Amino acid sequence: MTRIANLPRPGDPAVAPRHDATGALPSAAERALAPTIGVLGVQGDVAEHARALERAGARVVWVKRPEDLDQVDGLVLPGGESTTLRRLLDYEGLLDGIRARVADGMPVFGTCAGAILLADRVTGVPSPHLSLVPMTVARNAYGRQRESFVTELDVAGLGGGPLRAVFIRAPVIESVGEGVAVLARDGDEIVLAETERALVATFHPELTGDDRLHRRFVGRVREHLRRRRTEG
Ligand code: GLN
Repeated sequence: MTRIANLPRPGDPAVAPRHDATGALPSAAERALAPTIGVLGVQGDVAEHARALERAGARVVWVKRPEDLDQVDGLVLPGGESTTLRRLLDYEGLLDGIRARVADGMPVFGTCAGAILLADRVTGVPSPHLSLVPMTVARNAYGRQRESFVTELDVAGLGGGPLRAVFIRAPVIESVGEGVAVLARDGDEIVLAETERALVATFHPELTGDDRLHRRFVGRVREHLRRRRTEG
């Protein structure tokens, strides 16, 4: 059994973002091999996601300002604290930019607080945040006994056996709307789902060293780039 205390924690000091030494943006061919994926870098476990994405073959940039979105082919919204993240999204003026890019087809991966940001309904919260996925989530939905825990999930369509999942003051997905496929449940609770544009996990796939979900997301971003190229 892995002790939660031994895992990196959301909000641990983050490493510096990696940029190309020359500051040059990659060519279309380079991007097809290694898409550029942004990690919303305002709060939360940004560095762990960045490392998992790099291991999965992506270039990573931290998204802190609206203009950072211009260079990314996909975006990860990390765990952290959704009300704080929302305040920072408003402060930096990122909310509309992210919405516009996803509306234009950019794949997005939200984990834990990131899933809360994506939901179109958050129980007890008067208005949703990005409202990009038709689902209802409830924050901090596990009782004190199960506030933080590690478990194994069977994930639909994911080869390689059960996925170890770390839950930290996690939300649950109470219900999903049209176009949302449920990929995994913990007991009765929906914990992993996807739509055409979004992958949503209520847990922390960046904390276990098992990069299968990051690889799946990088694959989706590659697919998105390929489609863009063939559409001309
Ligand atoms: N409890 C947090 C929230 O409501 C989410 C926890 C997490 O991202 N680890 O935003």
